[in-house]
Amino acid sequence: MINVAVLGAQGRMGAQVVKSVEADSGMSLIAALDLGDSLEQLIGSGTHVVVDFTTPDAVMSNLDFLINNGMNVVVGTTGFDDAKLAIIKKLCAANPSVGVLIAPNFAIGAVLMMEFATKAAQYFESAEIIELHHPDKVDAPSGTASRTAQLMTDARKSAGLAPMPDATTTSLEGARGSLVGDIPVHSVRARGLVAHQEVIFGGLGETLTIRHDSIDRAGFMPGVLLGIRKVISVSGLTHGLDKFM
Ligand code: NAP
Repeated sequence: MINVAVLGAQGRMGAQVVKSVEADSGMSLIAALDLGDSLEQLIGSGTHVVVDFTTPDAVMSNLDFLINNGMNVVVGTTGFDDAKLAIIKKLCAANPSVGVLIAPNFAIGAVLMMEFATKAAQYFESAEIIELHHPDKVDAPSGTASRTAQLMTDARKSAGLAPMPDATTTSLEGARGSLVGDIPVHSVRARGLVAHQEVIFGGLGETLTIRHDSIDRAGFMPGVLLGIRKVISVSGLTHGLDKFM
């Protein structure tokens, strides 16, 4: 039986994780904590894995506490850049028994979309990302878009591709999106959306569009449960659910 605690348990994602853990016969929910609850109560509680779906502002201090207290962590909270990942790696190195999974996206389809986009990136002159989310999301671009853009940038570099063609000389600020690595990323926020992403490629005489749609937060749960099951048997930082698939 895997003992699980959830941080951000009253949030949109955290509440789904609580339900999914309770419904899983191999897991037991030890604690469902939200803003204002002390993490100290997890010490000595027998918790094997803590799941964090809080906010980009809160997650770093949560990780500092959890890793230093020997708890494995599955992180869905977004907003990680290279500098933050380096801090987590350092914390893990000082606590080698701990496993940490940081996954920008737990939807199996989104993980595959990132893999297909990485593969396609080496073959096309042009590539841009449009990510679309509900208007209550606090960070832009999304963690998924940033991760996809970074993977695509690396793939373009390995393939030796030239910079993308773009004749723009005058534009309104933001009109061409934000660059993540070499890839322009455009963020849309609108009521009614959940989490969606299009990766558009262009080459001579053809385009390719890869699109993923999360239409319900339930779609993230199989990936979260997979992460919980796997993270207890690894040590150090794992970045991306693809490493567990
Ligand atoms: P949300 O509804 O705002 O939930 C966040 C919850 O965390 C809120 O209840 C918030 O409380 C609470 N919280 C804030 N600081 C905390 C702390 N220090 N300790 C414990 N709880 C704290 O947001 P969401 O839509 O669930 O998204 C949460 C995160 O997951 C975001 O970063 C989002 O981008 C990410 N996300 C990731 C995936 C993925 O697949 N990896 C999928 C969807 C979303 P208050 O409301 O009182 O501040």
